[in-house]
Amino acid sequence: MLNRIYLDHNATTPLAPKVLDSLKIFLDQGWGNPSSIHWAGRKPKQVLRETRKALADFLKVHPLEIIFTSGATEANNTVLQGLVRNSLKFGFGNRPRVITSSLEHPSISETLQVMSEQNLIDWVQISVDQQGNFDFQSFEKALSQPTLLVSVMTANNETGFVLPIQKIMSLAKAAGAFTHSDATQAMGKIPVVTQDLDYLSLSAHKMYALKGCGVLWVKKSAPFEALILGGAQERSRRAGTENILGVASLGMALAELNSQPNIYQQLVLLRDRFESQILSQLTGVQITHQNSERLPNTSHLIIDGIDGESLLMSLDLKGYAVSTGAACSSGSPEPSPVLLALGFTKQQAQQSLRVSFGLYNTSEEVDVFVQDLISTVNHLRKVRLEQTVLLVERSL
Ligand code: PMP
Repeated sequence: MLNRIYLDHNATTPLAPKVLDSLKIFLDQGWGNPSSIHWAGRKPKQVLRETRKALADFLKVHPLEIIFTSGATEANNTVLQGLVRNSLKFGFGNRPRVITSSLEHPSISETLQVMSEQNLIDWVQISVDQQGNFDFQSFEKALSQPTLLVSVMTANNETGFVLPIQKIMSLAKAAGAFTHSDATQAMGKIPVVTQDLDYLSLSAHKMYALKGCGVLWVKKSAPFEALILGGAQERSRRAGTENILGVASLGMALAELNSQPNIYQQLVLLRDRFESQILSQLTGVQITHQNSERLPNTSHLIIDGIDGESLLMSLDLKGYAVSTGAACSSGSPEPSPVLLALGFTKQQAQQSLRVSFGLYNTSEEVDVFVQDLISTVNHLRKVRLEQTVLLVERSL
């Protein structure tokens, strides 16, 4: 049977085995509606309360500042749309300035793109280069105009680059802006910091819990307007019966993460083992942001002479789950806007591969993967070379 190895943890994580076991018990007892005041509502209500408290302790914030959502996409949309809609009320005019990095997830960048096209905002994107320099000069210049919101992700999902969030947010706060960070990829890998932030977004399925559950942290002093209306759940800040199973899984996963103090080192060992073998055994490979601060689990490669999609499909046939730097829309893989924003060419972006390790990967899996990756790349390069020779011969 095919040996399946999962190396795409930035896309989603598998359920932690203990979470899966506890969920089976929880399903039996916690299926009720947490808003019900009879016995069936008690267990789910307790789980909501306990998970809210556990998250608040983890982030060192107040439990009532935690709002459960359907995911980080909803959390991000809630912040952006709520603030922009109320911009006049906060004295930022009817076309307020919003500043982000050039590396944001589509749940930020596409939302702002639409608002920008509707002339609702003045959107400024601050670039990051391949050496990992956030352009502070442009940022400070942009902040010299009144700015409603600075929203910058804590870590990037594609390359694993960790942004200098503390410096960015302290400058943003000093300039009088509201501040938000999408920390979806940071949670469970590096410390999540809320200093100088008003809002923070998280997602359960990136940290060994279920999909369809996210978190929006809103500081007590920050303004808030609900995106989803029609119910008093989450203190009327997010209507709709709570995804109690998702919330329960998040609480259990958090307890699991808290019980493992060496996650960073564990992930770094896997990533470094992978990268050192690849760099010493394969030519024409470049590791993105290799010398910058990066997530411990993410390795983003540009591999000369291959097509990322073909590589992904060949590796899939061998049982490996990895990712490329292309977003497939309507069947045609487009190079990732994030890689283009980093200054890679379209061709380089299409030669990219993201390998993202997780807590249940082993060094043996890394070693097996390295050998299969090298032989697959060599094969694809050989095929490409033969095709080129054929084309040249035919044109003669
Ligand atoms: N932000 C980042 C940085 C992400 O990586 C993702 C998921 N790919 C999201 C937001 C969206 O999260 P969700 O799937 O919970 O909506």
